[in-house]
Amino acid sequence: MSPVLDIQNVKKIYGEGETEVHALRGVSLTVERGDYIAIMGSSGSGKSTLMNILGCLDIPSSGKYLLDGVDVSRLNDRQLALVRNRRIGFVFQAFNLIARTTAQANVELPLAYAGVKAAERRRRAKLALTMVGLADRSGHEPNQLSGGQQQRVAVARALVTAPALVLADEPTGNLDTQSTEDVLAIFDKLNRSGRTIVLITHEPDVAEHAKRLIRLVDGRIVQDERLK
Ligand code: ADP
Ligand code: MG
Repeated sequence: MSPVLDIQNVKKIYGEGETEVHALRGVSLTVERGDYIAIMGSSGSGKSTLMNILGCLDIPSSGKYLLDGVDVSRLNDRQLALVRNRRIGFVFQAFNLIARTTAQANVELPLAYAGVKAAERRRRAKLALTMVGLADRSGHEPNQLSGGQQQRVAVARALVTAPALVLADEPTGNLDTQSTEDVLAIFDKLNRSGRTIVLITHEPDVAEHAKRLIRLVDGRIVQDERLK
């Protein structure tokens, strides 16, 4: 079976001429199914750029990227949107839930985009909310939930489509210690059930949950270490 992620010599340059920023300077990385990777690096080292490329939210300036064996550089915008919807679950630092919309409806949203029928959407969203321990909060709107609960709803939304890959960019960056532990426990459980996780963080305690640690400095991988 092909790796979930396979990027070879990926470079990303923002801007042109005088204002050129080399955000990624030739990154190669293969991630096998079921692995759990933490990407660490100081601010400006290229973590979000890498996440955006891995998540098909942006394209590399050069280099190769295969997601689940599919060369994503050959896909058009519509196909890329499909890949994002079907194969990737995103979790962001700022939760990015839709305001004045219940947890249940937030979690159903990716299924609605995917054309899943209402009854099946409800069933799957309930399961996902149960998985993150929030079955009893399904009717609450984001402003009626704590930060930790909002992030757990976001995790439920990320996993509801059963994606090949969960991509999380500083998912605990806005959370207190207890909520951080709650969210990381869910990632651990997801990984034990076979999901591939790529987690971006600058906190060593968070990175310790992963099985493999990658360190970025100035757009290059300087460390790639198996933790467990
Ligand atoms: P990190 O997430 O590790 O903090 P980023 O990937 O956000 O790093 O940024 C890497 C480098 O690329 C930084 O120097 C940043 O200023 C620059 N950069 C990021 N996004 C853009 C953009 N859209 N346009 C120009 N430069 C950018
Ligand atoms: Mg960032």
